[in-house]
Amino acid sequence: MAQAFFGGVHPNDMKAATNEKAIEQLAPAPAQVVIPMSMHIGAPCKPIVSVGDKVKIGQRIGEPGGFVSAPIHASVSGTVVAVEPRPFSMGGEMMSVVIENDLQDTVSEEVKPAADPDSLTPEQLVEIVKNAGIVGQGGATFPTHVKISSGLGKVDYVIINAAECEPYITGDHRTCLERPEQVIKGATLLAKCFGVEHVYIGIEANKQNAADVLNKTIAELKAPVVVQVLHTRYPQGAEKQLCQAVSGRQVPSGKLPADAGCCIFNLNTTCAIYRAVYTGMPVVNKIVTVSGSGVIEPKNLECPIGTPISLLFDACGGLDEKTYKLIMGGPMMGLAQYSTDVTVGKGTGAMLAFAGDEEKHAEDPQCIRCGKCVGVCPVRLEPVYMYKYLMKGDVDTWQNVLHGMDCIECGACAYTCPARIPLTHAFRMGKQKVNNARMAAKAKAEAEKKAAEEKAEKKEA
Ligand code: SF4
Ligand code: SF4
Repeated sequence: MAQAFFGGVHPNDMKAATNEKAIEQLAPAPAQVVIPMSMHIGAPCKPIVSVGDKVKIGQRIGEPGGFVSAPIHASVSGTVVAVEPRPFSMGGEMMSVVIENDLQDTVSEEVKPAADPDSLTPEQLVEIVKNAGIVGQGGATFPTHVKISSGLGKVDYVIINAAECEPYITGDHRTCLERPEQVIKGATLLAKCFGVEHVYIGIEANKQNAADVLNKTIAELKAPVVVQVLHTRYPQGAEKQLCQAVSGRQVPSGKLPADAGCCIFNLNTTCAIYRAVYTGMPVVNKIVTVSGSGVIEPKNLECPIGTPISLLFDACGGLDEKTYKLIMGGPMMGLAQYSTDVTVGKGTGAMLAFAGDEEKHAEDPQCIRCGKCVGVCPVRLEPVYMYKYLMKGDVDTWQNVLHGMDCIECGACAYTCPARIPLTHAFRMGKQKVNNARMAAKAKAEAEKKAAEEKAEKKEA
């Protein structure tokens, strides 16, 4: 079994509610989908359809807003009934395209498989991935074509992330069991693209049955893929931690896995690459684990992008009346949601509802200096001091001395803290303050530059 990374915790994985349940198609299909024009890191898309337009599945409806961006496609066939801001899972509102589903499932003529998948050049694969709007489907949502193209010639170790280490979530586990050919053929495309002898799949020991199925498929397809079973430990699925656990390479502070020669792709991103090449279908569907004590009948559901989360809960028998919290994503890193009107995006892997006593909360929590948070931080930070300095308002020391911006917001420190101090929440706020200050400084510098240019122009005139 491969070497583990430093720190981490062992939360109860809570996966038994769904890990033996096959992926189901959401039924009935949504009458309407609301597709946000930003489901990726980078510039939002610009809508290229108008109210009244007829659209088909796989048709492009959002044009990328820059190099770091990804196009967006219709996930159902039907009529565009609105192009307007709608409630957004990341907070506030986001420009969205609303499509009324005609329930005909008509596929766009734009959807065509690659003529010869076995002879694609790296550049051709990048182009297919780019046009298919593929982004990191584990939640990171970084555009995959940018990741591949920036790693070409630099990367000699390619890893598929099948760790799925967050509690409750089982969509990747079920994908391995039910669609192993997509995983292995997608991984093979990446092996050829990067020119590596093998691609490695990192999977935790609590999914040994999935590792067995993948190994059987690798043997049948004679694929250049190796499955590495890892000790079960959270946050194994974080990029730098998985890189270390699988390859033994450490990614330095402030650097990316590519700087250590590694490129990491989420398991369902790999399947999306397979589909884009072998069927031509862009990212239009998502597998979502719907679970938690507030969900009557937890399931793994596959649904069109843009499906309102209320429909996922309806398909699972509804919510317990005592439900007090909804989380999009896992319980450690996910985002609390305050409305069931928000919709499934490309990075949505889970919708959780809690009705029991899961919430760790304490009024006026006080640090008892036990040091447990330091021992579990996979980045080797000192959460106890980071919190102390943030509470004093000393963001400078937090950022420059304690390296707060290196925090991956994994939640391991908050999970382990006996005083129930909301450490991760505080660090998210700290990062937001630093980013706001950076943006303000950039805006100020641009305004000063513009003013100086205008002054110079006036002088010349
Ligand atoms: S949330 Fe940040 S500080 Fe806390 S354990 Fe994770 S990386 Fe370390
Ligand atoms: S785990 Fe909590 S109580 Fe212990 S040192 Fe860290 S912040 Fe303080």
